[in-house]
Amino acid sequence: MEWSGNDGRVTTDPGIVEMESCGVCGAQMSVKRNVMGPTGFMEAMGKGKHLHDVFTCLDRGTAWHQRIVALKNEAINLASRRLRDIIAGEIDEILRTKQVPE
Ligand SMILES: [Zn+2]
Repeated sequence: MEWSGNDGRVTTDPGIVEMESCGVCGAQMSVKRNVMGPTGFMEAMGKGKHLHDVFTCLDRGTAWHQRIVALKNEAINLASRRLRDIIAGEIDEILRTKQVPE
């Protein structure tokens, strides 16, 4: 289980990255090139913008995808490797079924 990695959206400088895979589900992400706008909260606050490419996972908005992001955020803060293993098992199950478990 890779605990870091992107959450299904990555912005890069234009043209430097050919393809990018989703840090949540591993799928190849779709790309929109040469987008003009801010890439971060601070830049948006300062009304700044610049050209960039945006990679997005097509499943980013789904409930199961969002659940995995939430589980990873929980796991990152756990000191216990055993508890992280339990969460990793739950993430594997969600990835297999693409369903949020009851
Ligand atoms: Zn994904």
